Amino acid sequence: MRATLSCLFLLLVCSSRSILAEVNPSWTTSIAPFQITDNLYYVGSEDLASYLIVTRAGNILINANLASSPPQIRASVEKLGFHWSDTRILLNSQAHYDHVGGAAEVIRETHAKNMVMDGDVSVIETGARTDFLSPSPNIVRYAPAHVDSVLHDGDTVRLGDVVLTAHKTAGHTRGCTTWTMRSHLPGEPAGTMRNIVIVGGVGFWSEYHFVATPRHSVSYPGITQDFRHTFSELRALPCDVFLGAHGGYFDMLTKLKRYAQAGPRVFIDPAGYKDFVADAQETFVKALSQQEAATAH
Ligand SMILES: [Zn+2]
Repeated sequence: MRATLSCLFLLLVCSSRSILAEVNPSWTTSIAPFQITDNLYYVGSEDLASYLIVTRAGNILINANLASSPPQIRASVEKLGFHWSDTRILLNSQAHYDHVGGAAEVIRETHAKNMVMDGDVSVIETGARTDFLSPSPNIVRYAPAHVDSVLHDGDTVRLGDVVLTAHKTAGHTRGCTTWTMRSHLPGEPAGTMRNIVIVGGVGFWSEYHFVATPRHSVSYPGITQDFRHTFSELRALPCDVFLGAHGGYFDMLTKLKRYAQAGPRVFIDPAGYKDFVADAQETFVKALSQQEAATAH
């Protein structure tokens, strides 16, 4: 059942991207910001996730979302009682317009340092002109944002007492990044630390080519190896708290229904994480073998 639902969700994401592009209502609908761990907060929209990590030395923002999102993210940050101008570092999940379209504005307003995984640097600095799928109706251009610091697989980002690890989980984009950290959840015994995973992205559309044919080359050299590496990396990550670049990855709206009663512990979902990764891998393996079979004819 879960597998069917996830596949359905992937299909919905694929089709809604092509048909609705930037106007997907769940991407722009505001929701009240909420706390996940002692120092991690959700400040995104109904489906486009944005995370605020609060430290003694200022704050980290993961994902600036759409070009139109920064005012909404800022309002969420301030509603929680934090200062927008304390944003010291901007990170992202992947270089598509729904996660970094607002990056230039966030940087302009906060002077945050923009730290980006190696494979996505030129995409972000050209506002998606160098995206391997471009030109494509799915690749919407955005304001280019200067990258201050290039990250590599396994690098850590440190600010104050917080350490985030950048896992390169490429394929969806060439620098797609899954972020992990360890943190304590309000309501749990002192000293209980949880593994937090913020999945960067694992999906693809029909225009992704994993196999070269006489009509077209692969989407980019190494894309199949990247996806394989991504799934083995994600399978190996210890996960208690399952989060991601889209709320839909981790059934956020469903979990939030229990939040008022149960608090942030509703996001502890190691089984949901395992299922999500397994389903995504299955979807990829199936598509790969279909492309291989089509080429063999
Ligand atoms: Zn994307």
